[in-house]
Amino acid sequence: MRLIRMVQQQTKSAQSNKISTYLTLIVLVVFALSIVSLFVAVETYLIGDIITAGLFAGLGFIAMLICLFLLFQTRRQAAEVKLDIPKVMAVIECQNKDCANKTLREFQRGDFVFKDLDIACGKCGGKQMITGIYKEVKEKEKTYAV
Ligand SMILES: [Zn+2]
Repeated sequence: MRLIRMVQQQTKSAQSNKISTYLTLIVLVVFALSIVSLFVAVETYLIGDIITAGLFAGLGFIAMLICLFLLFQTRRQAAEVKLDIPKVMAVIECQNKDCANKTLREFQRGDFVFKDLDIACGKCGGKQMITGIYKEVKEKEKTYAV
């Protein structure tokens, strides 16, 4: 169950990556259009058509503002995603019943529950086994209404 959820999360982040690349493409196109419209605004102003120039300048500025807003938004989202990588931990237990030493270490590729480890127990030198794998979830700070 835990594994399935992890896989789902990974695909979700891949999807959001795709979306962000589409977004940056759209932002680039809108940015190019805004530059063109500003250029047209200058041209029409030089000709003497102040109304059309103002219209194009306005359009250009709005498009540019949208670009900046979108860029800011995607940057912030990327930063949030980076901060939120959960740690996966493996629980290692000594198979010697008199010792039953429990240790934790970060999950390594190829780890699975009930896997026998080559690393001997630090206390008694007995065989060790992975007895659990879990994802550390940082609980968000709770706020209480007073
Ligand atoms: Zn031991």
